Amino acid sequence: MTTKKEIAISIENLHKTFRLPHEQHSGLKQMVIGALRRNRKKGYELHHVLKGLDFEIEAGDFFGIVGRNGSGKSTLLKTLAGIYSPDKGAVQVNGTLVPFIELGVGFNPELTGRENVFLNGALLGFSRDEMSAMYEDIVKFAELAKFMDQKLKNYSSGMQVRLAFSIAIRANADILLLDEVLAVGDESFQRKCFQYFAELKKNNKTVILVTHDMDAVQRFCDKAIMIEKGKIVASGRSSEVAQKYRELFAADSNIPQSTTKKQNRDGTIETDFIQAKINLRKTSEKLTFDITVRQKKPLKEDSIVALGLIRDTGEQVFRWASDEKTKDVLSFDPAHITLELQNIFPEGTYDILFVVKSRDRSEDYGTFTDILQFEIESRTDHPWDTYWKPQERFTIEPSKVGGR
Ligand code: ADP
Repeated sequence: MTTKKEIAISIENLHKTFRLPHEQHSGLKQMVIGALRRNRKKGYELHHVLKGLDFEIEAGDFFGIVGRNGSGKSTLLKTLAGIYSPDKGAVQVNGTLVPFIELGVGFNPELTGRENVFLNGALLGFSRDEMSAMYEDIVKFAELAKFMDQKLKNYSSGMQVRLAFSIAIRANADILLLDEVLAVGDESFQRKCFQYFAELKKNNKTVILVTHDMDAVQRFCDKAIMIEKGKIVASGRSSEVAQKYRELFAADSNIPQSTTKKQNRDGTIETDFIQAKINLRKTSEKLTFDITVRQKKPLKEDSIVALGLIRDTGEQVFRWASDEKTKDVLSFDPAHITLELQNIFPEGTYDILFVVKSRDRSEDYGTFTDILQFEIESRTDHPWDTYWKPQERFTIEPSKVGGR
């Protein structure tokens, strides 16, 4: 495509600092401690939270923001939403924006669910008639029909989020900011959010998603940034940023993790724990992955293999783990794994994600992307739907010696 995309959000050298007032100390001990502190005269301490961020989000992008707790993600979102003003730098937003970032804003706990729908709608700029027309859909999406006459203070936080989200999406804004919506909902609500995300993508809306769910980042986001201590430490394709995030956590823990890594684009990979070879046979009906895994060091007995398909848009269109349906683990060394998938995937260039981990996912023996590229040609016989699971067949058995 030659048309240049419009910029939805542009951030330049963004700084945000909070002033934290010093507490008033009364006791003698506190006075002595206070006297020893520097900065005391100022009466406040500066907390520099965002330290010069630069990035752009194109209109129609699904953009992920990831990072540890306390790294500055919510502060960034609130600055984008205009709730905080930057101390330095520029924030430019082109288009209407709806923030869905702080639970309880615009809700009154003493009112019923129904009353809160109308109150919240008014805050989003809807008339009463408009809200009446949307009311049934809102309640249905939130799955709260039975609870609408109860006071909001009796709702769980998950129920409140469902209601708030269900209202926020009616605003049909150009840009939607979402902070951790996925963390609170149950699985069926999450699935609905995912469906809704897929729809937003189709309609070329700009969505900014803060989440710890790297599967969601890979599946929905085109691009992402990772923030660490108020600075951008990774940016680019969502699959790469998600990988960096996982590495950040892997580096944090003292549990065995593969350190050395070798990989080729022909599907051979090696870490200090495993050697593996992945082959793909592709027809218009089926994708057949043939995988041999050899252990260099003994892995935990219940280790698993997982495989994902990542489209060039960065979207993870499929993910499979050996223990999910079949409860199978890597019980043989070397092991030969066959995964046969119905080829229902949309056209594009694909890469695979390949993972070997202990079943509780605490030990990572190897996580790879960029190892096997393949194409899926355009076709019309399979209308693509994110929620259409391909049929799959899977076996794990001892590998024949020299079978690699
Ligand atoms: P994240 O969303 O990544 O968890 P936050 O943006 O919430 O991170 O917080 C980043 C840092 O800024 C934290 O140290 C937090 O304590 C601080 N912070 C956030 N909001 C305020 C505020 N209103 N006043 C003072 N400090 C704040």
